[in-house]
Amino acid sequence: ETLKPSREVKTVCPYCGVGCNIHLGVRGDQVINVRGDIDNSVNKGNLCVKGRYGYKFINHPDRLSKPIIKRNNTFEEVEWEQALDYVVERFSEYKSNEFAAISSARCLNEDNYAVQKFTRAVMGTNNVDNCARSCHAPSVAGLAKIFGSGAMSNSIDEIKDSACLFVIGTNPTASYPVIGLRIIEAVKNGAKLIVADPRNIDLCKHANIVLNQIPGTDVALLSGIMKIIIDEGLQDENFIKERCENYDEFKESLKEYDLDTVEVITGINREIIIEAAKLYATTKPASILYSLGITEHTHGTENVFALGNLALLTGNMGKPSSGVNPIRGQNNVQGACDMGCLPDVFPGYQKVEDPETIIHFEDAWGVELTNSTGLKFPEMLESAKNGDIKAMYIVGENPVTSEPDTDNIKNSLQNLEFLVVQDIFLSETAQMADVVLPGCSFAEKDGTFANSERRIQRVRSAINPIGESKPDWLITCEIAQRFGAEGFEYNNASEIYKEIAEIAPIFSGINYQRIDKEGIQWPCNDVNDMGTPILHTETFKTENGRGKFIPLKYRPSAELPDEEYPLILTTGRNIYHYQTSTMTGVVDGLKKLYGEDYIEMCSDDANKIGVEHGEKVKVISRRGEIEPKVRVTDSCLSGVVFMTFHFSESATNIITSAALDPISKTPEFKVCAVRVEKI
Ligand code: SF4
Repeated sequence: ETLKPSREVKTVCPYCGVGCNIHLGVRGDQVINVRGDIDNSVNKGNLCVKGRYGYKFINHPDRLSKPIIKRNNTFEEVEWEQALDYVVERFSEYKSNEFAAISSARCLNEDNYAVQKFTRAVMGTNNVDNCARSCHAPSVAGLAKIFGSGAMSNSIDEIKDSACLFVIGTNPTASYPVIGLRIIEAVKNGAKLIVADPRNIDLCKHANIVLNQIPGTDVALLSGIMKIIIDEGLQDENFIKERCENYDEFKESLKEYDLDTVEVITGINREIIIEAAKLYATTKPASILYSLGITEHTHGTENVFALGNLALLTGNMGKPSSGVNPIRGQNNVQGACDMGCLPDVFPGYQKVEDPETIIHFEDAWGVELTNSTGLKFPEMLESAKNGDIKAMYIVGENPVTSEPDTDNIKNSLQNLEFLVVQDIFLSETAQMADVVLPGCSFAEKDGTFANSERRIQRVRSAINPIGESKPDWLITCEIAQRFGAEGFEYNNASEIYKEIAEIAPIFSGINYQRIDKEGIQWPCNDVNDMGTPILHTETFKTENGRGKFIPLKYRPSAELPDEEYPLILTTGRNIYHYQTSTMTGVVDGLKKLYGEDYIEMCSDDANKIGVEHGEKVKVISRRGEIEPKVRVTDSCLSGVVFMTFHFSESATNIITSAALDPISKTPEFKVCAVRVEKI
């Protein structure tokens, strides 16, 4: 007989940034099933395979249940007292600029708030960052410069009313499946769909126009599209005049993007580019949806600028079902940024370099704070390699598998004098730590997540913490209190959220009562404010309120194919797994559906190398080699091969490139040169 849950708890899916509302079915202290909540605007009952079946990591026997200290290269379980005393003793040995913290896009807003407050108020540094550095930091930097705010401009529910959807550099049916579903529904209801992607992703089947650009050529493609729009007189002159600046300089910069040039750079036939430009410019409202195919490049921020320019040019901003919409891959990557786990901003995007902001936070926290911008994650790793950063606190992230050029990352972490990792499993990164602290999963915690559309939603504890694990915010606060710091004596997560609302104006109107049934989208400035589904309706959030066109010059990716490494490797996600699969990888059902990584390539490329579907090959880059099996598929075009980064067994990031976007310091996961050899 199938067991039925004895109770259900409404909470939020722990995987992607859609933030689907779910009911966890609980029996005793076990989560035994999940169903979608039909009564909310985000997912309306829909769930993908991860959200529906990926819950078995919660009660998995490998969950960390006690703190661990490494002695003589052996892990030993210890009591909390001993672990925390040791952490504080060792962290106290280091100066502010020798310490850095990485917080987690899988943890609550309250957990993230505690990490950045501890780093700033106790350790005295702004060296705090989160994994957005490796994904959407170009969105935060790029959109903030053009529009004054680095978040999704519109709401998920508005997708259904868009007349035209321009989906570029994102694979929604695999990475954010419920948004994928919304897009397909919109198309069925008559919306036009343009898909721009180097691969023939599933969504292409539903598209009116498919643009298969060579990876890394988005600035040229988008500039070509914008030049056509202006040449055809399809720009929105009124919107440009009334709400934008810098148009003439921008227009001048487009001169070099004639169709001959754009065709050669992007590899797309000019007729299709012209058709796409006309369709997007004439079918309103038009919404741009994008993700890491845009951001994970050495010119990721410039790609985001190009999308912002395109939306301004056609007046598709500040209106329902339009806008520029970065979709977040991890459930709380928006929240980790909102909470100030970034080296240049406090919670609510208040700048650390602004003297008034410093006074505001010094008054609130009762300590002196530094106004120097901290290090970004790749800079922290570089400093660790040089011996400048000596101690790190990594909460809920697994950079050994998730970051590019694995050997380089390992060298940096090995060079640290003291590493503390807080996680729910002994991840590849936790295995390198001196102390591992057992945090709780989402199912054991009360608090909030922010989804891709800036919606703060309630996360509710369904079962008791596994073993002796503790909520992450509590662990961080206990470390801070052992330092003798004040202001960390919270009794529950709701007290932390109250402080967040007091300290950051964009969250002032949000409290747990107000978001009990349905989340609220920030900014929400007071308790009568219903939140902000659409940003920039009246003015932009820039200093003068105008949207800023940015002239752009196409720069090729850092590593292009050559004779020795003739193929472009691009990486991404699949529907069954999440990040480095520390959670989904322990779920038997998901492992059965997809249990190992493949290198995907088209039949032409496979024939050239003389390999067949299912055969093991060597994939070699300048940084190392791995041995996955081949999957021959029509979705890859000649010259471009694809892998996910979900599996440590064939860790793709051993071979990816660590070349960085100079503005956001985001690595170029999407383009590196490789050679595939028959074994
Ligand atoms: Fe969870 Fe995202 Fe799937 Fe929704 S679409 S169930 S949030 S993984």
